[in-house]
Amino acid sequence: MRRLAGEKLVLASHNAGKLREIRALLEPYGCVVVSAGELGLAEPDETEDTFAGNARIKAHFAARESGLPAVSDDSGIMVDALGGDPGVYTADWAETPQGRNFPMAMEKVWTLLEERAAPEPRTARFCCTLCVAWPDGEDALFEGQVAGRIVWPMRGELGFGFDPVFLPDGETETFGEMDPAKKHAMSHRADAFAKLVAACLA
Ligand code: IMP
Repeated sequence: MRRLAGEKLVLASHNAGKLREIRALLEPYGCVVVSAGELGLAEPDETEDTFAGNARIKAHFAARESGLPAVSDDSGIMVDALGGDPGVYTADWAETPQGRNFPMAMEKVWTLLEERAAPEPRTARFCCTLCVAWPDGEDALFEGQVAGRIVWPMRGELGFGFDPVFLPDGETETFGEMDPAKKHAMSHRADAFAKLVAACLA
């Protein structure tokens, strides 16, 4: 597998929460990390119906446009009693004409679980697929997950997205309450990232 350590690379995301987390994960390996936003790159449409498909679209677009190796993240939360929804459409469930509204999206998930009288625990998984793409078209995919349950009401102001309603298995704090360093050590992104490190950075 081609190496990334010490290289300049582009993070193919415009999501501030993901950028913060992935930058913190990559910088200890001597990578110089620039974001797609800093380079003025557009956001390609995510037209696939899998995490891997959308991660590939984002990484290949950024690598082609920038001439640098690119790392993308496609992620979301899969709720078992909702047949895996919102899944790849997690960000879409938060869309409003005024921008993304995650409290509204979390309430939608909770309301659907209540309407279906879903039994407790309301199990769910955060899933993450990272794609590394090189400007010549080569790529590699790394997948990670963390299991837990949906809790209500929302708890905690830390993190982003669906963090306030996700209680990881074996923990008493939601991702929204948890120290970010602890979340980074156990999250779906950390799981995928450990595989990326083993293949391209260690
Ligand atoms: P996308 O990968 O850009 O399509 O967006 C994935 C969406 O999943 C994000 O906008 C978040 O709402 C949600 N998500 C992904 N990872 C996390 C996480 O670590 N915490 C909370 N929400 C997340």
